[in-house]
This record gives sequence, structure tokens and C-alpha cells, in this order.
Amino acid sequence: MEKAKVVIIGSGPAGYTAAIYASRANLEPVLYEGFFTGPAGGQLMTTTDVENFPGFPNGITGPEMMDNFRKQAERFGTKILTDDVESVDFSEGPMKVHGKKYAHEATAVIIATGASANKLDIPGTREGEFWQKGVTACAVCDGAMPIFREKKLYVVGGGDSAMEEALFLTKFGSKVYIVHRRDELRASKIMQQRAIEHPKIEVLWSSVMTKVSGDNVVGSVTIQDVKTGKETEHEAGGVFFAIGHTPNTAFLKGQIDLHDNGYIKVKPGTCRTNVDLVFACGDAQDHVYRQAITAAGTGCMAALEAERELSARGFIG
Ligand code: NAP
Repeated sequence: MEKAKVVIIGSGPAGYTAAIYASRANLEPVLYEGFFTGPAGGQLMTTTDVENFPGFPNGITGPEMMDNFRKQAERFGTKILTDDVESVDFSEGPMKVHGKKYAHEATAVIIATGASANKLDIPGTREGEFWQKGVTACAVCDGAMPIFREKKLYVVGGGDSAMEEALFLTKFGSKVYIVHRRDELRASKIMQQRAIEHPKIEVLWSSVMTKVSGDNVVGSVTIQDVKTGKETEHEAGGVFFAIGHTPNTAFLKGQIDLHDNGYIKVKPGTCRTNVDLVFACGDAQDHVYRQAITAAGTGCMAALEAERELSARGFIG
């Protein structure tokens, strides 16, 4: 088992920013960027244009931005491992981090594992049914596939992701329906406006999807009006879930304190967890803001806190 002063788990804006700060502070961090658990670089790898990250007046694509973050972390000496962390042991120092291929003893650990898109579990959407045969949880990843061309597409959700995905899908589908369970959207005003004003988008208010049917691929969806209970079947060529996220923290159960919804508990205004020298940043500990810029900000905080704590305890000069 190799030794490291700092192990960073996760590779979105939080993990890479922690790596940039930790490597510039000569902490020689090792970063597990993931492999099977999702795209290295995190959720921004499945986003189109990022328009709200300061410093990019003309926007930048998510993958391009994450590639820049990664290169910047490597430039200062971060060792990046393409591996998933399966378990950790924080019961005593040095802490143990076990990946599929690699393992480390770490003096400090920074967790930046982010969150993953949720799916609805309704008939027709499961593995072996129409999952990945017209049903997906990422319009940006899958929307350009030929099966969705000139079809009626359904996005489930009422947040910014749903608006963004619906707008993206207008490039491919003949019509895009947003299925939202309430009569008011959760999305920001600007995103709502863009979606509602788009001629190809229609919102199905107070509605839920109860079934997906088809032949080899999705052919129709059943929509229920939640106020009347009435169900109607509609022709459909694709279903896209945009119903929020679950933090990627299952491997931490029993090791650090988590909230009931799975997000990591940190001491207010810091990235400190209940375990000494274990820090958490990014979406894995943030169910409120969940932005690239806030993730990067907390990544910076986690690295600075780790450096100060390692110094205060005499682990570094
Ligand atoms: P979100 O804001 O949590 O919205 C999730 C949506 O899914 C809500 O409208 C919710 O309905 C609905 N939903 C949840 N569970 C459901 C279920 N079982 N059945 C039906 N509907 C369900 O998640 P998000 O849209 O992924 O956004 C997450 C964060 O990322 C937000 O802070 C957002 O601002 C940010 N974001 C920003 C941008 C951008 O600025 N371009 C793009 C994407 C995301 P209710 O409203 O009824 O709860």
C-alpha cells in the first residue's frame, strides 16, 4: 500500500480545485478520478455550455472546462489515478483508501465524489425494458442519437436541468414536453422563460409519467393528471429524467457522519467532517447550491484546511 499526505477522491470541479491547491502547497496529492462510477470530471462532462462560471464571458463547454481543470492539477504535480474508490477505513491514522486497482495510506483525505442523476422507477423504464432504448437520465449525453430525431420527446422534472435538457432536445425532436408534477417550476426564472417561450416546448403541468411502452424502443408514455387522476397515453420517441441527484457517498457509510439524504455533514462554514483530517467538498456535501463555482470554492477550502491541519499537527513543515 502506497503512502500519501493527501488523497483526493473525486474529479469534478471540487476535486480538481482541491488538487490544484494541494499540489501548489507541495502536498503531492494523489487523486482517484473514478472509472466505472461515472465520467472522470463529474457532471460537467455531460453538460453543454457553461455560461455562469466567471472568467468565461463567451461560455465554455463542460468537458473543455474539466480538461483544463485536470491539466492545471497535473501541472503542479497531482498524481491522477483512473480508479474507483470502493471503501475507506477512517478508524485510525493513517487512513486507508482502497480502490479497485490501487490502495493508499493517507494522512489526510478530501472527499469530492459529487452526486449522480436520479431515475424514476416506473413500468417500462427499467433495465431489460426501455432503459437506454429511448429512456435515459442524460439528454446531453444521449439526445443526439438517431432514435430521437424528429420524435416527440418527454423530459420529466421542473428544475434547471429539466429546462436545460428540454432546450437541448429541441435541436433533435419534433416537439419536447416537460412533465412536471406541480403547477409551478423549480427552475430559475431565466431558464423557465427560455423553455416556456420556445415554440417546440410545452409544459404538462401537474402531471406525472406512470408508464413507458413500445416495441423495440419507446413508442408511447402514459401521463397522469395529478389533480384529476386521469391517465392518457401519448406517442413518444424518448424519455429523459431530470429529477435531481443522489450524492455518491454510499462507500462512506459508517465511516463519517452523513445527513439522512446521504450528503456529507460538514461543520458550518468549513469542509471539516466529524473525522479529524477528513474533509468534504463539492456536491457530495452540498444539496443547496450545487454549482461548479461553489464546488470549486469548497475544493479550495478543503485543501487549505487540510494544509493548515497537517501543519498544526506537525505532519508537514
Ligand atoms: P432540482 O433543482 O432538485 O430539480 C429536480 C426536479 O425534479 C424538481 O422540479 C422536482 O419536482 C422534480 N422531481 C424530483 N423527484 C421527482 C419525482 N420522483 N417525480 C417527478 N418529479 C420529480 O435538480 P436539477 O434540476 O438537477 O438542478 C440541481 C441544481 O443544479 C440546481 O441548483 C440547479 O440550479 C443547478 N443547475 C443549473 C443549471 C444552469 O444554471 N444552467 C443547469 C442544471 C442544473 P419539485 O419541483 O416538485 O420538487
